[in-house]
Amino acid sequence: MRIDVLSIFPEYLAALDLSLIGKARRDGLLQVNVGDLRDYTADRHRTVDDTPYGGGAGMVMKPEPWALALEDVMSQASAGDSDGDPAIGARRPVLVVPSPAGQVFTQAVAQELSERDHLVFACGRYEGIDERVIEWAQKSFEVRPMSLGDYVLNGGEVAVLAMVEAIGRLVPGVIGNPESLVEESHSDGLLEYPVYTKPATWREQGIPDVLLSGHHGQIARWRRDQQLRRTSARRPDLLEQLHSGALDKKDLTT
Ligand code: SAM
Repeated sequence: MRIDVLSIFPEYLAALDLSLIGKARRDGLLQVNVGDLRDYTADRHRTVDDTPYGGGAGMVMKPEPWALALEDVMSQASAGDSDGDPAIGARRPVLVVPSPAGQVFTQAVAQELSERDHLVFACGRYEGIDERVIEWAQKSFEVRPMSLGDYVLNGGEVAVLAMVEAIGRLVPGVIGNPESLVEESHSDGLLEYPVYTKPATWREQGIPDVLLSGHHGQIARWRRDQQLRRTSARRPDLLEQLHSGALDKKDLTT
C-alpha cells in the first residue's frame, strides 16, 4: 500500500517511523511519503493561508498549493506505477481529508481503506481547506472527509497518525499474528473482554477461576459474556447497532 501525507508540519508525522508501522515501512509492506505543503507555494513567505471570504475569525488554506501538491502526488504515483510498482492499482486513490465535519472514522472504515492500494491524507490547519479543493479533487480521487470524533483538533496531523495506524495494522503482514486482530474491540461490533497476565495473584487480586481451568469452551463463553456486559455498560449504542444474527441463543440469556 502506498500512503502519501501532505502537511505544513511534516515533522509531526515522524512517529510513523516507529513501532509496527515503522517496521512495515522498512519491510516494504507500507510505502509512506510525507510531503511539505509549503514546497508548493511560490512566494517568499511560503504562504498557505488567507482571510476567509465573508469575513469571520481565522484563516483558510489557499487552494493552489493543495492542487499543486496533489497533482505532484498523482504524477509520482503514476511514475511508480509505470516502473511496475505493485503498490499502485487500477482504482482511483482515496483522498482522506481529516475534518471534524467529516464522516466518523470507525473500524469498518479502517478495514475498507486497508484494502485500497493508495491513500492520500491532506492535513488541514487553521479553519480548514478552501472547499473548492474538495470539489476539484473528485476528478482524480475518491474524496473522503473523515472525523476522528466529535471534538476539534488544531490540525489534521494527529488524526492522520491515528488513521494510518488503524488502517496500517490491518494490512496483511503488518501484525505478526493476524489472529490478534480477530478478537479485538470493534472487530465483531463488541468491546473486547478483560485480559490478564502473570502473576495469578497481584496485590491481593486474583483472576477469574475459569481462565485457569484450561477448559477452552468455558473460557470462550466467559469471554463472550464479558464482551456483552462491558459493551452494554460502556457502549450501549454499539449493542443497539448489532443485527440480531450477531447474537447466539446463549448470548440472549446472558
Ligand atoms: N473550522 C473547522 C470546523 O469547525 O469544522 C475546524 C478546523 S480545525 C481547527 C483545523 C484542522 O484540524 C481541520 O481542518 C482538520 O484537518 C483537523 N481536525 C480538527 N478536528 C478534527 C477531527 N475531529 N477529526 C479530524 N480532523 C480534525
